[in-house]
Amino acid sequence: MAFRKKFTPRKKFCRFCADKELPMDYKRPDILRDFVTERGKIIARRITGTCAKHQRRLTNEIKRSRQMALLFYTTVHSTDVKKRSSI
Ligand SMILES: [Zn+2]
Repeated sequence: MAFRKKFTPRKKFCRFCADKELPMDYKRPDILRDFVTERGKIIARRITGTCAKHQRRLTNEIKRSRQMALLFYTTVHSTDVKKRSSI
C-alpha cells in the first residue's frame, strides 16, 4: 500500500450517539476529559469523531466546566492555583 493512514484505522463514531446513557455534563469532568487534551484544549471533532450536534453541546459543557474550575484550563493555570493555595 502506498498510503498510510495518519490516525489509527479505527472507525470513528460519535460516542454520545452510540451511547445514549453517556452523560454530557459539566459535572462529569471524567467524561469531558476524554475530549480535551492534557493542556485543556478541546479536541477537534474530526479526531474524536463526535457529530456536529454533540460537539457543539460538548464545547458548551467544557466551557462551563472550566468556569466551575472542575476542568483545568492549562497546566500553567493549575500550578498557579496550587501555588496560591499553599500560601
Ligand atoms: Zn452525536
